[in-house]
Amino acid sequence: MQVEMKSAKLTARDGWLLCPACSRGKVLKLNPGTRAVNLTVFCKVCGTESIVNIDKCLCQSACAT
Ligand SMILES: [Zn+2]
Repeated sequence: MQVEMKSAKLTARDGWLLCPACSRGKVLKLNPGTRAVNLTVFCKVCGTESIVNIDKCLCQSACAT
């Protein structure tokens, strides 16, 4: 299994975490307070597996102040 190990730059849009590789696929639904440690996500758009670490809230609706 090939996994991208480099730390990914995370982008969130419309409550979804976007694929770190292509920034087009939605790989994870974000809820207020969502956290993740070494979570593997799979992008259906580009077929890349990425490991993400979410140490702060990324949702831009409920928590953005
Ligand atoms: Zn992708």
